[in-house]
Amino acid sequence: MNYPHLIDRGKPGVIAVTARGNRFGNEADSYHGFMRHLFAAIEPGAEVAAWLVCDHRFQRRYGLGASKPFPVSLKRYQRSGYLVTAPTIEELARRCGIDPAGLKATVDFYNRHAREGRDPAFDRGGTPYNRVSGDPDHKPNPCVAPIEHGPFHAVKIVPGSLGTFAGLKTDAAARVLGNDNRPIPGLYATGNDMSSVMGGHYPSGGITLGPAMTFGYLAALDMVARGGAAEMDDIGAAAD
Ligand SMILES: Cc1cc2nc3c(=O)[nH]c(=O)nc-3n(C[C@H](O)[C@H](O)[C@H](O)COP(=O)(O)OP(=O)(O)OC[C@H]3O[C@@H](n4cnc5c(N)ncnc54)[C@H](O)[C@@H]3O)c2cc1C
Repeated sequence: MNYPHLIDRGKPGVIAVTARGNRFGNEADSYHGFMRHLFAAIEPGAEVAAWLVCDHRFQRRYGLGASKPFPVSLKRYQRSGYLVTAPTIEELARRCGIDPAGLKATVDFYNRHAREGRDPAFDRGGTPYNRVSGDPDHKPNPCVAPIEHGPFHAVKIVPGSLGTFAGLKTDAAARVLGNDNRPIPGLYATGNDMSSVMGGHYPSGGITLGPAMTFGYLAALDMVARGGAAEMDDIGAAAD
């Protein structure tokens, strides 16, 4: 099932693990950071995939990915194979193709500290970004709760693409630069076509749409300043 698993990872009571059953990073980090952690954890040649694992209490309260919280039935998601459900953590692991002993050890370790709202492995809930995606009503840590009351659920996730940092090199007016680093007359780029000013980093949400609008505006101002339509007519005539 195609679904953007962007926001449920920060809620208290869900972890993400690899096929070895290991957690690989702070699940409440941005989707960009989360996937960086995953890519770093996967051995060369292995499938880049993770499983979100939670208990029934979590699923019914927050939902898990596309599967909705109470009172929406889980049957449709289970029948399609999207939501995997089992009475125990080991059985859940077996049904997902995760190492059962690995997942059991991970959940036991996580739970021991999660009961006190702590995550010594990855400090979940340690940043404002983490806490915004948690549950403010859950104390003491809005991002951390144990996973202990079966049945247990899991959803497999794989990387997707929302945009790109790569693109055409531009100047401050969004004019595309040629190989000689000089603006190509009449050619502008914004959005995904423009090499991102974020340089491969994800400081917060809006890093594609914000610059896209900003540089679109700057491009328009530049076009007007350069004579706008008249210049475009000249370029069109040259192309003809
Ligand atoms: C699920 C999701 C959530 C997102 N959330 C956010 C967010 O919260 N904040 C944020 O900043 N960004 C977010 N993004 C990213 C952001 O939406 C995109 O990076 C942005 O829309 C890219 O804009 P664009 O104009 O460069 O490209 P696009 O929006 O892809 O526009 C390109 C257009 O060109 C058209 N096109 C393609 N080929 C041709 C062709 N040959 N001829 C004519 N037309 C063509 C396409 O049909 C399309 O309409 C999200 C993306 C997704 C998928």
